[in-house]
Amino acid sequence: MVQYGQQNSANLARNTMLGRFVMQNDFGFNFDNTYATLPESFFSLLGPSSLTSPELVLFNDELAHFLGLSTEAMRSEDGIAFLAGTKVPPGGVLLAQAYAGHQFSHFTMLGDGRALLLGEQITPSGERYDIQLKGSGRTPYSRGGDGKATLGPMLREYIISEAMADIFPTTRSLAVITTGEEVARETLLPGAVLTRVAKSHLRVGTFQFAAGRGRDQELKTLADYAINRHYPEAFQDANPYLSFYRAVVHTQASLIAQWMLIGFVHGVMNTDNMAISGETIDYGPCAFLDIYDPSTVYSSIDHYGRYAYGNQPKIAAWNLARFAETLLPLIDSDQEKARDLATIELESFSGKYDQHFLAGMRKKLGLKDSHEEDAALIHDLLELMREHKADYTNTFLDLTFQRFDEHDLYRLEGFASWRERWEKRRGTWEEAQALMKRSNPALIPRNHRVEEVLRAAVQERDYKPLKKLLSALKEPFAHSPEQAEFASPPESNDIPYRTFCGT
Ligand code: AMP
Ligand code: MG
Repeated sequence: MVQYGQQNSANLARNTMLGRFVMQNDFGFNFDNTYATLPESFFSLLGPSSLTSPELVLFNDELAHFLGLSTEAMRSEDGIAFLAGTKVPPGGVLLAQAYAGHQFSHFTMLGDGRALLLGEQITPSGERYDIQLKGSGRTPYSRGGDGKATLGPMLREYIISEAMADIFPTTRSLAVITTGEEVARETLLPGAVLTRVAKSHLRVGTFQFAAGRGRDQELKTLADYAINRHYPEAFQDANPYLSFYRAVVHTQASLIAQWMLIGFVHGVMNTDNMAISGETIDYGPCAFLDIYDPSTVYSSIDHYGRYAYGNQPKIAAWNLARFAETLLPLIDSDQEKARDLATIELESFSGKYDQHFLAGMRKKLGLKDSHEEDAALIHDLLELMREHKADYTNTFLDLTFQRFDEHDLYRLEGFASWRERWEKRRGTWEEAQALMKRSNPALIPRNHRVEEVLRAAVQERDYKPLKKLLSALKEPFAHSPEQAEFASPPESNDIPYRTFCGT
């Protein structure tokens, strides 16, 4: 088995210097920085940034506990300086990662243009998490950008990633600080830095970067590193790289099914935004379905609907095909054979996706076993919802709580006959309802609600509504009265909701 330690001596020396070895400190940092042991082309080491008046506006105590960080020390002046990137935390290493990616199908060399890895934290339970700052300033990969982020989008990422934490695999948010700077966008906006926590920031785009350099040894080093970090069981396989690919295909099939089940539209599924770990990453222009319609697009720059809700499984498969292309030299020396082997794995995506989606939908409908006619039952309900503009989340809640006076849809002949089929198919109501309560969230971060709380926070620096929403979103399956307050869809859908990339 290849270990992290397989590195040249120069890297080892640098890594030691960078604090690979654990240092005791009041903050609870327990860094073990392995990414910096990769070949130098994969990153750029950076110094701290300079900001004069960073201020902590959100801090996630629960996540800090999980990471083993001191909630008290992290709120101190030094703690805030680490979260602002103005000081290097004990044992930390500031680096920006190199990657490439297909953005709206166009290939580009990219990299962390406004992000900075502080280090890899080993949690008290022994898990490894990247702690990364987003919006901390320019890096060698910034291209034309200023390396900065603004308060609204960073708060938005915090809200949505934390709301999804119990719903699907996702990066997490530890903190938001305001930088005290004004950042020039269409208008001047308050600058902010988000502290993001992820199983890693390895992306399909990281492999595209390695493959693009054409050095097979670097590619192999990266693949071994990724396997070690996320899919170590692949090393047991006769063809570890094919096994690795299969594992990523299956994790993505599961992840995308979970997005679809919750009505999540990622909005910018570029290959650099597809994480090898299977976590959802980069909450830029994402949003949630109100009305169920597969053609829903929220992102203002997605002119052709490439990343529409209903296209997400297809796009994931497209991204996975790009991923396969990078791994071919490792899969077999005969490239023809490598391609055939990878194709078989890629083709398993849609079957796996369907399995996950069907299994999830059955739960949403309170069906505890599987029948052949389920696919049709689900399809017919979704089709009724689309045709009659039913709210995605609330339709499932209406079914869960038998609220059949809430929408015109339920008075239709078509619905009555669907309901009859569903009731015949269900087991006892008590059991079915319990399953439905566990499978249909009481609350999602409704687009219009998120906008409301962001407006208060950014324009009036009033964080109370935001914190109230965060608290209501914390236990999505609690079905508490506090949640009902935030559950209503927008009053009008006349003006389509639009999102913007979080720059
Ligand atoms: P994203 O759409 O957030 O996934 O970002 C795509 C690419 O653009 C990444 O390489 C980012 O690092 C880079 N980028 C986004 N915003 C900025 C910015 N304000 N300054 C520099 N680079 C940026
Ligand atoms: Mg990105």
